[in-house]
Amino acid sequence: MNAELDLGLERRIGKRSAAVIEKHLGITTVEELLNYFPRRYLTRGELTPISEIPRDEEVTLIARVLSSSTRTMRARRGSITDVVVSDDDGKAGLRVVGGTDYRGKVPGTLKISFFNGYRAKAELLQGRRALFSGKVTSFNGVLGLTNPDFHVLDEDPFSDGGQDPEKLAAMPIPVYPATAKLPSWKIQKVITTLLETVDLASLPDPVPPKVAEREKFLSLAQAYRLIHAPETAADWKRARERLRYHEALVLQSALARRRAQLASEEATARRPVADGVRAAFDRSLPFTLTDGQAAVGKTLAAELAQDTPMNRLLQGEVGSGKTVVALRAMLQVVDAGGQAALLAPTEVLAAQHYDSIRRTLGPLSRDGLLGGLAGPDGASVQVTLLTGSMPTAARKQAMLDAASGTAGIVIGTHALLSDNVSFYDLGLIVVDEQHRFGVEQRDALRAKARKPPHLLVMTATPIPRTVAMTVFGDLETSTLDELPKGRAPITTHLVGLSENPAWAGRIWARAREEIDAGHQVYVVCPKIGTDDDGDFSPGEAEPPGLESDDASRELASVAAVVEHLSTEPSLAGVPLAPLHGRQDPEVKSATMAGFVGNSVKLLVSTTVIEVGVDVHNATLMVILDADRFGISQLHQLRGRVGRGGLPGTCLLVTALEPAHPSRRRLEAVAATTDGFILSQEDLKLRREGDILGASQSGGRSTLKLLRVLEHEDVIARAREDAQDIVGKDPFLSSHPELADAINKYLNPEKEAFLERG
Ligand code: ADP
Ligand code: MG
Repeated sequence: MNAELDLGLERRIGKRSAAVIEKHLGITTVEELLNYFPRRYLTRGELTPISEIPRDEEVTLIARVLSSSTRTMRARRGSITDVVVSDDDGKAGLRVVGGTDYRGKVPGTLKISFFNGYRAKAELLQGRRALFSGKVTSFNGVLGLTNPDFHVLDEDPFSDGGQDPEKLAAMPIPVYPATAKLPSWKIQKVITTLLETVDLASLPDPVPPKVAEREKFLSLAQAYRLIHAPETAADWKRARERLRYHEALVLQSALARRRAQLASEEATARRPVADGVRAAFDRSLPFTLTDGQAAVGKTLAAELAQDTPMNRLLQGEVGSGKTVVALRAMLQVVDAGGQAALLAPTEVLAAQHYDSIRRTLGPLSRDGLLGGLAGPDGASVQVTLLTGSMPTAARKQAMLDAASGTAGIVIGTHALLSDNVSFYDLGLIVVDEQHRFGVEQRDALRAKARKPPHLLVMTATPIPRTVAMTVFGDLETSTLDELPKGRAPITTHLVGLSENPAWAGRIWARAREEIDAGHQVYVVCPKIGTDDDGDFSPGEAEPPGLESDDASRELASVAAVVEHLSTEPSLAGVPLAPLHGRQDPEVKSATMAGFVGNSVKLLVSTTVIEVGVDVHNATLMVILDADRFGISQLHQLRGRVGRGGLPGTCLLVTALEPAHPSRRRLEAVAATTDGFILSQEDLKLRREGDILGASQSGGRSTLKLLRVLEHEDVIARAREDAQDIVGKDPFLSSHPELADAINKYLNPEKEAFLERG
């Protein structure tokens, strides 16, 4: 630990400033404030178009005063000063910072109103240039700012006087993430004081000198100085580069240390046997494995047979056949006398896995409830479902079977992680469809077994390399990149009801055509009834922008759609049925059996069908209010059609206006069936924190300068360096600064606690 970094802020910037910074930014230490980086930099000369101002959020902008007038209010005491601003040459334009890429049609000037704005009246004289900070709103088509904080630039606040005016004009103005009460330039002032009072040269540098030399990095002290107080644009760029690498190195070293730790652990080897359940299963398979499945299967078989734990991520498109691969691995472990646990993101999906795995195993599976009644041991495996919503007696039995080892495969949700579930000999954990399952959760899982178990994480969302290197940096990766034969192409159309209301009827006529041709139809709704939240799986982040939607909009629910379709003329006589997570299990399985058996022609459901449901005769999927779903969820959903060699069609129905930002997701899904492109698109539309998901929670500090998608090269270099450093010095005994930084990154709260205690 470094005394200077952990020092309370009041010691360096004074009590009053420290109190303000703590109140508005929640920052209390020197280190935190030094690492509070500008979001962007403004240049005094350049202006950008006014139409780029994001609305309804805090922005900082430079503008020139066109006119100013003050009038007295009639209704109450006081005055209003209206200041109209624009850019220098009269063209519509302002320099804007912060916020989204919302681009509306807006006029070229901005009207700023101040109530009792005596200072505004005195200082914002025509022709003056100033920084403004506030929320831009639009009123009757006129863009406005009300009572913004402002700072006149022409009496330059950032120079210490006597500066060369040309140099001054080129000097970037840092813009910090500000709040309504604490504008950017006040933060800058405080940080300027900090830079003067802190002994920057004494700060510990986690970047080894060799690397710093190779990269021609600035010193750490210079980097901190120039990122906050650059004289040129080149300054802050170099500073950022250095601090960004710094961040990447700490992150990658943490992961490298983890990999080294995991590799040194001892696991129970689960060697394949010649005459076990797995061999019998392979003989009973109704299809041949794809080359990819066979290759990954070989890798898994070999790793399970070793006495170091397997830690592997299996990526593969929807329908690429991951489950079979996982099941074969589980059977190998069972054959070797161990148990396997399969974790699904929701109870509904766990129940589906349970059904489909028992179906797939056929006579090789024993029902948990019937216990040893079926085939002789060694030729069969007991598959057990264990979820929180099961009746108490059944749940107790399932827990007993897990603890006694009677259950060979236990399927459940993360509830399997809870303390009162124990296993006799847990040899393999499979985590399905969960790309937000972080390092901490994986650790909790590993702790379930006496010896570290083998671990297989499966995801249908292809993960860009850099995300894999960060979020799953402790895992090796395998990919299934071909679909089993017989998959037909899926065509996806966006159906915008706001521009073409008549299409609503056309959808059902289209469904009727499919049904008349002997095929079946899925209709997916975001909700179950008229007052619920649907079957959203917790693994899926809410798509961005949902909150801002019109809350009064009535969304399609299974109940309402079933009612509507029963009277829809074009569907007269068509047998249809609802399916959702809140039905009794018997109702659900009866409905599914009806759909599988083709007596139900049209299934109205929630996202319960997202994973695992496999009806080859289904050719059309209609997703209502498709804007309520995320990209990867839509992609998963449509993977349910086009499975039986018949071409599939997916209709994404939305009532949103064409300009609505959420329509971009739908357009992306309609444009391609390439899961990799979609996941890139998805990540672009999400915030960084969402990308890192669970791995960023649980006390970890968040990344500041590193963008997982943008900085692939930085991450890759840092990863190599980290591997090198940790490889030579696993305990980092000759890199104490790096070790400290890792500990701080992994556990900022503990550090803060130590410091206080
Ligand atoms: P994923 O979990 O990767 O989305 P599944 O494991 O659910 O995919 O497989 C989708 C469907 O494809 C299942 O019905 C499965 O039985 C079938 N399947 C798996 N592998 C093959 C194969 N090699 N050939 C034909 N069908 C396969
Ligand atoms: Mg699957």
